[in-house]
Amino acid sequence: MDFALSEEHRFVQQMVRDFAHKEVSPIIKECDRKQEMAPFVLPRMAELGILGICIPVRYGGQGMDYISLGLACEELEVIDTSLRVIMSVHMGLNSMALLQWGTEEQKQRFLVPQAQGKKYAGFGLTEPNAGSDVAGMQSTARREGDEYVINGEKMWISLATKMHHCLWVARTDPQAADPHDGLSAFIVEMDRPGITAGDIHGKLGVRAGSTGWIACQDVRIPVENRLGEEGEGFKIAMSCLDNGRYTVAAGATGLIRASLEASVKYAHERNAFGREIARFQLIQQKIAGMVQSYDAARLLYLRAGWMKNQGLRNTRETSLAKWYATDASFMAASEAVQVHGAYGYSDEYDVERYLRNSKGAIIYEGTSEIHQLMQAGYALNFRQDAPLRCELPAYDPEIWQE
Ligand SMILES: Cc1cc2nc3c(=O)[nH]c(=O)nc-3n(C[C@H](O)[C@H](O)[C@H](O)COP(=O)(O)OP(=O)(O)OC[C@H]3O[C@@H](n4cnc5c(N)ncnc54)[C@H](O)[C@@H]3O)c2cc1C
Repeated sequence: MDFALSEEHRFVQQMVRDFAHKEVSPIIKECDRKQEMAPFVLPRMAELGILGICIPVRYGGQGMDYISLGLACEELEVIDTSLRVIMSVHMGLNSMALLQWGTEEQKQRFLVPQAQGKKYAGFGLTEPNAGSDVAGMQSTARREGDEYVINGEKMWISLATKMHHCLWVARTDPQAADPHDGLSAFIVEMDRPGITAGDIHGKLGVRAGSTGWIACQDVRIPVENRLGEEGEGFKIAMSCLDNGRYTVAAGATGLIRASLEASVKYAHERNAFGREIARFQLIQQKIAGMVQSYDAARLLYLRAGWMKNQGLRNTRETSLAKWYATDASFMAASEAVQVHGAYGYSDEYDVERYLRNSKGAIIYEGTSEIHQLMQAGYALNFRQDAPLRCELPAYDPEIWQE
């Protein structure tokens, strides 16, 4: 067992940390207040190669491993959740699905420009009336000759108004005995006629990020845009979540770290009853709790990243990492606000934003309730993972760097 990070890992960590600290940190409060994503963020992440970090060089990426992706997500969310959300959807939920399920032609058409950061990508699963219950979705894709005609609406979609390519899941077989088997996945280019999209404002958190809705009315796409086989949509969507949840887990770990660092700093600065509040054992207890959850969350996501590198199925381990880290980050952010007293309750300090941002991750990519059901299902032998037709490829430095 080797717990050491490689030289490459440390390079990625430092590069992403520098970007987030120097370029985003100074403007993040203002973006959060205005509920706007800073226009430079996506092009700059593209320029730095972050948007293609764990995609092989021959597909336009940086050829790094999956642990590098996790480390990058941790560093991004130390500064703001909205930065990590970009990686969750563009990389975890879309580009990695193309790497796993795409034909060579689809990789050339969609993955290469995404990994190069010339096109941004997102993931359209949730609908106004179907979230956790994916098979309850109402979007349809009707085959007509060499085309599919897509109708339906997606809701709560990150980068809805920024993305060029949406991985869209829709019902192709309304008669399927099991509704899960009637779904298929498509790559929909957002400039096709019949597509409209808009932003959602008034969110509790991730206000510096973009979340919106997308509607398709008689949108025609060629059959070549279907990802995987007809009827594989549910399996593809779940495999996307194995990767998206990994980025959420790593990011939430960064949010715990940010809460810890802010609390340690403030505990040394603030005085009460003639001493710095760091001297009070009840404050120390909160800080110790953050240290504990940071280390546990980090080990859980690194294990999932290691399993991805080895090509091992990691649905259980990734779900556990995501559930643990997101619940723990909410607790850490809440305790950080408490350490800051009334100042923590205002946006003069960052901790109130951490608290607002941490709540979303307990809801998206599987609510905590869904992850509890999954973990109980594995423990009770109600749930096993059958092999997939296409698995996420194991990391091989020679092939990735070729
Ligand atoms: C900021 C943000 C960004 C998002 N980005 C995306 C995106 O890019 N793409 C995308 O497709 N979606 C996205 N989502 C949507 C997100 O994935 C869904 O909100 C999530 O899956 C939950 O679905 P829901 O909101 O419909 O809640 P529901 O499924 O309606 O759940 C409501 C409540 O019931 C509970 N519940 C449901 N079923 C069960 C059960 N079987 N047992 C016990 N409790 C249950 C849930 O845990 C929850 O507490 C985003 C959401 C947010 C907030």
